[in-house]
Amino acid sequence: MTMPADPRGSLATDAPHPPHGGLDVAALLSARSGSIDASGIRRVFDLGATLENPINLSIGQPDFPVPDPIKRAAIAAIEGDHNGYTPTQGIAPLRTAIRQLLHDRAGWAVDDPSIDAIVTSGTSGGLLLAALALLEAGDEIVVPDPYFVMYPQLGPLTGGRVTTCSTYPDFRMTAERVEPLLTDRTKAVLLNSPSNPCGVVATESELRDLVDLCRRRGVLLVSDEIYDEFVFDDALEHGTCPTPARFEEDLLVIGGFGKTYGCTGWRLGYAAGPKRLIAEMAKMQQYTFVCAPTPAQHGVLASFDLSMRDHVDAYARRRDLVVEMLGPHAEVARPGGAFYAFVEVPPHLGMTGTEFVERAVEKRVLTIPGQVFSTRDTHFRLSFATAEDRLREGLAILADLLQG
Ligand code: PMP
Repeated sequence: MTMPADPRGSLATDAPHPPHGGLDVAALLSARSGSIDASGIRRVFDLGATLENPINLSIGQPDFPVPDPIKRAAIAAIEGDHNGYTPTQGIAPLRTAIRQLLHDRAGWAVDDPSIDAIVTSGTSGGLLLAALALLEAGDEIVVPDPYFVMYPQLGPLTGGRVTTCSTYPDFRMTAERVEPLLTDRTKAVLLNSPSNPCGVVATESELRDLVDLCRRRGVLLVSDEIYDEFVFDDALEHGTCPTPARFEEDLLVIGGFGKTYGCTGWRLGYAAGPKRLIAEMAKMQQYTFVCAPTPAQHGVLASFDLSMRDHVDAYARRRDLVVEMLGPHAEVARPGGAFYAFVEVPPHLGMTGTEFVERAVEKRVLTIPGQVFSTRDTHFRLSFATAEDRLREGLAILADLLQG
């Protein structure tokens, strides 16, 4: 029997709708959703919202505008009617440019048929697709602690288990620290260099040891290189960001365009590695994100001829300022890249990271407590992607608080 078409749509009934809020939504939510706690970082934003003209050292994005050629290329794409879907894996010239990047930086052959690249919806998109393609219930992934906030959530999001590798006090994710955490359920080790929240850059020898360990144990090394362009002169090797991809092609490089070019809202990243894995990630993308944003893909095509070195050098000078002004009063692992420093609250103050951050908020300075990025709450993260005069002002207040 054919039902007559209902102009109100298939969900319409003659019964009155329940009053707004009548549905017990809480009873419908998944345990997965309930197990994710976003309160730590939200509390900081809420505190910040109550302040007038705060010195905001909490922001995780660059303070420079998107370079004009990239803006123009994105605008031209919109005006040229490139607004529909792209292929799941991204537009061909962008994938080619990513392959070229891996060639220049790591020596991967651009035409190696066993390697592939996919354009993703942000670096977060790449991380999620990789986790979905790799992990099932009981499988483990080792991540550094401190970590980027998404990493622990890859467990609840996929059903896998996240094992944290403490890198305190120097924040170096060495093979020595990772090896005891590997089990026969470990599928992957996730490395982030330069790191959020510490700014630490792995050395080539550390990378080589990690690659060797993963190869020996049959585990995939996933390298989150979102801050790859933000490596200061003193941490560069061979004039470029040290990457484990120099020693291995059977690993997954995940990168992004948002931080490098100040377009975090465009949601554009990529992943490159073994063709079989990229194909599985493409399948996951096809049924979730579908494709990365089209105008943004065209926009960043203009990025490959640009140098952001002047901005990075400016960040290196701000890094120097952080170490110079806070170093005498607290333990600060000298950042070799990114735009963050992870500062220990001196134990003699008898305060947690959260308590220190609350004290700083009273003085109008916003930072983020270490517990947002860690199983510990002994530090705080500050971002130096802020105008130098404001940064200097904030650092003076923090230095004062650190002295007790
Ligand atoms: N990885 C790290 C280490 C990050 O710091 C961030 C963003 N703060 C991401 C991934 C996610 O970046 P995107 O905005 O490109 O998703």
